[in-house]
Amino acid sequence: MNKTSWWQKSIADTFKLVKSEPGYGLSSKEVEKRKEQYRNVLEEGTKKNPVLMFLNQFTETMVIVLLAATVISGIIGAMIDAITIMAIVIINAVLGFVQEYRAEKSLDEIKKLASPYANVLRAGKRVKIPAEDLVPGDIVFLEAGDKIPADLRLIQSYSLEIEESALTGESVPVEKSAQANLEKDVSIADQRNMAFMGTSITRGNGQGVVIATGMQTVMGEIASLIKESQEAQTPLQQRLDQLGKILIIICLVVCAMVTAMGIYRGEDTLTMFMAGVSLAVAAIPEGLPAIVTVVLALGVQRMSKRNAIVRKLPAVETLGCTTVICSDKTGTLTQNQMTVKRLAIFDKTLDIEGEGYNKSGSFFSAEGKFNPKKDPVFNKILEVALNCNNAAIADSKRKIEIQGDPTEAALLVLAMKGGLEERFEKIREIPFDSERKKMSVIVKKGNHYYIMVKGALDVLMSSCSQVVKEGNDTKLNENNSKYFLDLQEKWASNALRVLAFAYKKIDSKDIHKISDNELESDLTLLGIAGMIDPPRPNVDESVNQCLDAGVVPIMITGDHPITALAIAKQIGITNDNDEVVTGGDIDNLNDKALYRKAMSTRVFARVSPQHKNRIVKVLQERRQVVAMTGDGVNDAPAVKSADIGVAMAISGTEVTKEASSMVLADDNFSTIVVAVHEGRSIYDNIRKFIRYLLGCNIGEVLVMFLAALLAMPLPLLPIQILWVNLVTDGLPAMALGLEPAEPGVMKRKPRSKDEGIFSNGLGKIILLRGIFIAIITLTAFTVGLAYSQMHGIDNLDLARTMAFTTLVFAQLFYVFECRSEKFSPFELGFFKNKFLVIAVSLSVMMHLTVIYYTPLQEIFRTVPLDWWHWGIIIILSGLQFIFRLLTYIIQRVFINRNIYAKIRL
Ligand code: ATP
Repeated sequence: MNKTSWWQKSIADTFKLVKSEPGYGLSSKEVEKRKEQYRNVLEEGTKKNPVLMFLNQFTETMVIVLLAATVISGIIGAMIDAITIMAIVIINAVLGFVQEYRAEKSLDEIKKLASPYANVLRAGKRVKIPAEDLVPGDIVFLEAGDKIPADLRLIQSYSLEIEESALTGESVPVEKSAQANLEKDVSIADQRNMAFMGTSITRGNGQGVVIATGMQTVMGEIASLIKESQEAQTPLQQRLDQLGKILIIICLVVCAMVTAMGIYRGEDTLTMFMAGVSLAVAAIPEGLPAIVTVVLALGVQRMSKRNAIVRKLPAVETLGCTTVICSDKTGTLTQNQMTVKRLAIFDKTLDIEGEGYNKSGSFFSAEGKFNPKKDPVFNKILEVALNCNNAAIADSKRKIEIQGDPTEAALLVLAMKGGLEERFEKIREIPFDSERKKMSVIVKKGNHYYIMVKGALDVLMSSCSQVVKEGNDTKLNENNSKYFLDLQEKWASNALRVLAFAYKKIDSKDIHKISDNELESDLTLLGIAGMIDPPRPNVDESVNQCLDAGVVPIMITGDHPITALAIAKQIGITNDNDEVVTGGDIDNLNDKALYRKAMSTRVFARVSPQHKNRIVKVLQERRQVVAMTGDGVNDAPAVKSADIGVAMAISGTEVTKEASSMVLADDNFSTIVVAVHEGRSIYDNIRKFIRYLLGCNIGEVLVMFLAALLAMPLPLLPIQILWVNLVTDGLPAMALGLEPAEPGVMKRKPRSKDEGIFSNGLGKIILLRGIFIAIITLTAFTVGLAYSQMHGIDNLDLARTMAFTTLVFAQLFYVFECRSEKFSPFELGFFKNKFLVIAVSLSVMMHLTVIYYTPLQEIFRTVPLDWWHWGIIIILSGLQFIFRLLTYIIQRVFINRNIYAKIRL
């Protein structure tokens, strides 16, 4: 379809060609039919093939060396050993594959969660659909901040400007016009009546009909522009990668030394070589990056269930370091469910009945019920409210749904309550943006043309020269202005949001010629409306949680300072401070003063998007880690430069979503706090299994190294080393990553961004535990040796079984301790992480099978253990665990029962 020169076709011809109907779109039957043929997605770069992913598990150098050595030992004669080693390597590879595959899948799902939507007209109804379901012939509504979801021939445009740098490299937005007549040979950059997939609307609004989707779009054709899907590594993953490389070198050196020392002492060369290689395979924490990814990805899935959709994986880590949350007011801290409650002209104020978007409700003046339609000034306000408005209300039996801006929806309801429903013909629109804080339309009413304007009172007043007073236009002077400004202040202190209305009659010949500025000058002020937008339920609790967690909540709004302050007080962002910093103040403050104000005042009002950018910069320069919310297209730069850019799924624009690292599915401030909580506990969990894995691996290496150094016989056979790795490193480590958040996560200060993974003494703890595990394993080995000697047993099987079992059990006890750096497993609730209990039980059963199942005894050279062997093993391996259990019992039974109730918050 896209071989047609669409820009040359008239709108009517375009509809004919794509077989769609103006004002109706496609029927649902037609959509279904077209969906079979078209998919609106750009094919991604090569995906990882699961088979290759599995085979990849065997490509680690040490695994290859181990496999080669196994083959040699098999040929020499130890066939059963060789097969078992192969089996263990394969099981390990399966585990590794499952981890990696899950990580990959979860990352895919995360991508899907953040996929864009489009507003379309189907069968005459406006609906929101995933952009990938668009088909040629669909009519798409376009708003500032939208990403163009497919290639479109524009059919309507009001001040529409599109930034097409993704296609043309030109970052200055291009003015678009549905009516433009174009030459035959124009380049993409000059096709002004077209909009192309992947470009974004910076201003205005309009509609377009889809002429190409997916790979048929211009974007799809320019193959070089389709980026391979790149998986960004988080800073932690990068650091772990570096750490992994250092550990590999250390491991290899130590393993080589163990092998050399063994051979020097006269041990069998092949056995020593196998032991060295097995040790390297077991001790190199090759699973670490995959487990980190799985834990991050699972965390991200958990967060998405709680409405926080993470778009960029590194954000999960940064969330835990967040020190400041800068939040919009409207819709994030408040419900965005607006209702106009008051209306005032110069000499009269009305109260309006009704809640939410319900269209019924009467108007009351001080004298009683009042019909605003009968009063020319109130009637004019209702006309502006209805016409200077792009919102729509779909009133189905089940619920009332609004489309468009909630402020405008509230005004639409107001007009409907007053009995106005039919809009005049719209000729031109100067759109609203948070910079201008006003919006205008030119409409044709009968044979006359009017400009109708609504916006912030303080802004609109500077465009007005008259005001309607007692039915007549009067010069707007200081006294008249004061009347409305005082009224605004009074309403705002009751948390009402105030909007003003103005108009002017214009000459038909000026409609298209006059500049926006000229049009919006010399207006007549009509009056103001006050609307409520109550705080979201429980947002005050979330604000409190932030304060407890050392995170400073800051409100940044485009609304009036007094309204902002009233809401800030209601939700506890500020209490006894009556100060608000306005956009004007920000311009006059130097960076240092602005920083101080931000941290102490915490309420910014009448700010523009660039101010947000400056606030982020000033905070970041002073080492704050900033989460910043944004919805409008102009917020994108601030959202992008924040450490955590937060966009809104419901009221936000696609451009801002794309700039963000996290999207709130419910637009709710509390969800950011939930995300911070999750971010902290995910990082905790990563620390937990690093503590576990490295502690265990150091233990394993040291057992072999110390034994070699002390000229002891080989304490573990290669096959036993691999087994330890299998039963302890796999499932228990994974389960540790699923540990529920520990108590008090939101009672401590944020983690520093520069903090290393081994901070707060973790490195020391790991090293000491490794040494401890090695010592107790060798102790068990020595006891086994002494017992064998005493009883005339002339092989090492018993001593090795004791060392082997002690090493396994020490690690399985240790995994419970790694659940928290602060609390004992009993304080946390022993069975609270049921995955861990199951994983450890499985590992214990597997190990007992190896000791007591005769065929396996032969393979693993194990012997059944007596009760006293077990006594020694349990006492040695569970020393710390038993000590913590006893302290817990003593505390609980004899000292204070209640402290644990407090811990389990
Ligand atoms: P927040 O910044 O917290 O989301 P906000 O909606 O008040 O809150 P903006 O969207 O920047 O912030 O709006 C700034 C001001 O512009 C509002 O306080 C209001 O006076 C005015 N305004 C808001 N929406 C419209 C609109 N659709 N048309 C005209 N004026 C508007």
